[in-house]
Amino acid sequence: MNEVNPFETAQRQLDKAADVLDLDHSVHQALREPMRTFIVNFQVEMDDGSTKTFKGYRVQYNDALGPTKGGLRFHPDETLDTVKALAAWMTWKTAVADIPYGGGKGGVVCDPTELSESELERISRAYVCAVSDFIGPEKDIPAPDVYTTSQTMAWMMDEFSKIKGVNAPDVITGKPIGIGGSLGRGDATARGVIYTIREAAKELGMNLDGARVAVQGYGNVGFHAHKLAEEQLGAKVVAIGDAEGAIYSDDGLKHKKISNNMKEHGVFAKDIEGTEFLGDGDKGNAELLELPVDILIPAAIENVLTAKNADHVRAEVLAEAANGPTTPEADEILYENGVYIIPDFLCNAGGVTVSYFEWVQNRNRYYWSKSEVYERLDKKMTKAFADVHERAREEDVDNRTAAYMVSIEKVAEAMKLRGWV
Ligand code: GLU
Repeated sequence: MNEVNPFETAQRQLDKAADVLDLDHSVHQALREPMRTFIVNFQVEMDDGSTKTFKGYRVQYNDALGPTKGGLRFHPDETLDTVKALAAWMTWKTAVADIPYGGGKGGVVCDPTELSESELERISRAYVCAVSDFIGPEKDIPAPDVYTTSQTMAWMMDEFSKIKGVNAPDVITGKPIGIGGSLGRGDATARGVIYTIREAAKELGMNLDGARVAVQGYGNVGFHAHKLAEEQLGAKVVAIGDAEGAIYSDDGLKHKKISNNMKEHGVFAKDIEGTEFLGDGDKGNAELLELPVDILIPAAIENVLTAKNADHVRAEVLAEAANGPTTPEADEILYENGVYIIPDFLCNAGGVTVSYFEWVQNRNRYYWSKSEVYERLDKKMTKAFADVHERAREEDVDNRTAAYMVSIEKVAEAMKLRGWV
């Protein structure tokens, strides 16, 4: 459970930027709450023949810039406030990346580690059935997030298409390539993270060749961030961690070795020769966050950097691949200590950017090459980074506040043009 309520964090971050912007009161009030919130309860038959009721959420935070867009999480600790926070951050994310979407998010309260493949399929289909009137290619477009995969998206797209009697690949993104997914979507979030680190290093005069990196969280984003930090930046990933624990090697953990080991043993790479085990679960991750590294990449969930450990962070750059990894208290400490933060909704905007490319390709029934996707993604991320970095310098504010300022202005303008405020 989160000790810090993520939605309160999102509101506090907004308030801070609204203050610097001297934002119109009516716009500020409108942006403090989601436009629409759906709570659904639905029944699913389990493998043992029993029927279980599951709770799901979908929050459409703001759609002034376009249909709402954002992932779906399957998580045992999912709460409405977490989904509201994530939907708010999606609103700022799509705005900073300059893609024509609003922000949304969804979730189902369940523990995927205790469910079979067929139970997961039935949950995915039942969730879509429950929200099918609220989502759609021109309304609200889900995508993968924590514990959901391209297969989850495939089942959901299929179910929506059946319910509506149309073939609607554009209702959801992050699909497998064979049914309308985009090349380059799989590692897009991590790739975007790497592009922003590259840009930050240029600004800071930091040499990335051999730079020491720690990655906390080893799901889709952490796994690919490790690979790309090596391949694209020439950096040395010295520590990785996930729910099972964290490992360290001063010489660098080779991605290939780690992924081969994980494939072989089916679990996180705990026992690899030549690596030091930092500890199980939370303990290992806590150590990882405080290692003397150049770049720290939290790539899991919210609230990993708090008032308790922020002062011990020794990285020069904090690249927030996860959504909401830093609490407002930690934010202040890190800023004062001179840590260069690439804020979450800028840093991890690569995923939704390629989701947008996927949707564009689906709507045109015309598909791009991988290099086209990478090139366009690089352009978007580089521009978004420059907008935020410059704004922070001009206004003498931290990068997160600057990112909020850039995004709020775009959303506020759209709201005004539509005559809402
Ligand atoms: N779940 C991802 C995020 O938090 C991707 C969202 C999307 O592609 O719509 O940014």
